[in-house]
Amino acid sequence: MSVTENIRDIRERIRRASARGRFPEKEPRLIAVSKTKPLPMLQEAYQAGIRDFGENRVQELVEKWEAMPKDIRWHMIGHLQRNKVKYVVDKAYLIHSVDSLRLAQEISREAVKRQLLVNILVEVNAAQEASKFGSSCRETLELVEQIARLPGIRVKGLMTVAPYVEDPEENRPYFVILQQLAVDIRNKNVDNVDMEYLSMGMTGDFEVAVEEGADYVRVGTGIFGERKYPPAADCVPSSDK
Ligand SMILES: *Cc1c(COP(=O)(O)O)cnc(C)c1O
Repeated sequence: MSVTENIRDIRERIRRASARGRFPEKEPRLIAVSKTKPLPMLQEAYQAGIRDFGENRVQELVEKWEAMPKDIRWHMIGHLQRNKVKYVVDKAYLIHSVDSLRLAQEISREAVKRQLLVNILVEVNAAQEASKFGSSCRETLELVEQIARLPGIRVKGLMTVAPYVEDPEENRPYFVILQQLAVDIRNKNVDNVDMEYLSMGMTGDFEVAVEEGADYVRVGTGIFGERKYPPAADCVPSSDK
């Protein structure tokens, strides 16, 4: 199937999952995760109506931002290093991957310097995977409260990256946890915090995430096909051994 057909198919599956799920009044938004994919594929997605694109590396986001139409909302979904914040604060519509106070402080500093208001989500490691970034559920409220005191930055919700699983049902508990955590935080009425968005669900599990209240799903493979990562140059074995 083409990118255009994939997008139509995924939109339809989102619509059905939403209608049968626990939050039929929500209208989940599709982020096309275009990391590693070439511009012509992004252009086809744009022609098919996509205006939300997700990237996980700052340099790639900036390059694609420069090359693509300016009505696109770019979502920074990957781990963000503090020394790269300055390149992305004015280009990202939403930074999904804020997982520490130090990173939030750097975003705040840069936002104030450039008179921006930067919208962010706090990344939660709902499955407590050692390999993943994100704050633990227990730490999240405190982190949100601390970030809320910083100028130039606004907490718009929570994001999680669920484990890679064969059966998407296995991830349902993590989506439920994220939704409940957002409700708990909303009930605290922290100034400067709107728990407006839950960013959860990827190619393998977005329907379950939508059933449990996702506002943003992040779909890469399902739209653009498998990603190819060449081996790092310094890892390729030399042939003459
Ligand atoms: C790559 C990526 C996605 C998309 O994953 P697919 O399985 O290809 O849909 C979603 N979220 C994050 C944070 C990612 O890094």
